[in-house]
Amino acid sequence: PENRCVVGRFAPSPTGPLHLGSLVAAVGSYAMAKRAGGLWLLRMEDLDTPRVVPGMADDMFRTLETLGFAWDGEVMWQSRRADAYSAALERLLATGEAYPCGCSRAEIARAASAPHDGEGEVAYPNICRNGLQPGKEPRSYRVKVGSEPIVVRDLVMGEKRYDLAQICGDFVVKRADGLFAYQLAVVVDDADQGVNQVVRGADLLSSTPRQILLQSLLDYETPVYAHLPLVTATGGGKLSKRDNAVSLAVGLDLAVEGGRLILAALRFLGQRPPESLAGSCGKEVLAWGAANFDITLVPTASAPLSVHS
Ligand code: GLU
Repeated sequence: PENRCVVGRFAPSPTGPLHLGSLVAAVGSYAMAKRAGGLWLLRMEDLDTPRVVPGMADDMFRTLETLGFAWDGEVMWQSRRADAYSAALERLLATGEAYPCGCSRAEIARAASAPHDGEGEVAYPNICRNGLQPGKEPRSYRVKVGSEPIVVRDLVMGEKRYDLAQICGDFVVKRADGLFAYQLAVVVDDADQGVNQVVRGADLLSSTPRQILLQSLLDYETPVYAHLPLVTATGGGKLSKRDNAVSLAVGLDLAVEGGRLILAALRFLGQRPPESLAGSCGKEVLAWGAANFDITLVPTASAPLSVHS
């Protein structure tokens, strides 16, 4: 897009109900985009179809609306974007930046001489980079990672360097099951939607260098990034599914007490909304955020989110 208008977005995955972490991402991305007079787009990341829960996307729309959010333009659905992802993969293959890979997970673990527990990723030792091994069929597609570190400049987390060769090696952009990888989809979608400001949870910070690499290989501009602190359980650990769901959030009726939830999210993000907003509806609290959000106040550390204060 030619205009320099700020375009932010919220991109939930409809694999479970909107949770407190996604609420924080929604509030932060909305307030950042609107503070800059920009657009706030919505993208449904229903790419991983086997994990999508039927009806969840509608549930999310309703929850967002009840909380007072309004998004700009049409919702983008990843499940309808296979052609765009294919075209991007074709470009990467044509320039030699991507290649077919015939290795199974177990083979990779063995080659990397790491125990394969199905859990953590091992760095791919780039076995198929210079051609498939004899007798192998292409299973997945990978993109080549260089030896130069990738620098992420984040408005909240500061500047970080990542050595992708060491962290993940050449990484998958199309999976063995035929699905495009999140890393590719998000980069193609952000570019096609004209997104130039990405505000999301810090759980995605480690994905950012792979996305920056793909942006440069596909000649896309790299957006401005702000990764927000994660919401933890009161004790500091991981939130349970139940505690985490906004729809269940501490038993609040969202239509009545959505404002309280948005206020809590803004405070979690280090903002200082006035006491006079207590009792306001979600839309009014969001309007305050849109007028006053200050990214320099956002803390870096994960913390519990307290709704009852
Ligand atoms: N769909 C991802 C999630 O819900 C977010 C992707 C992104 O913001 O880049 O975790």
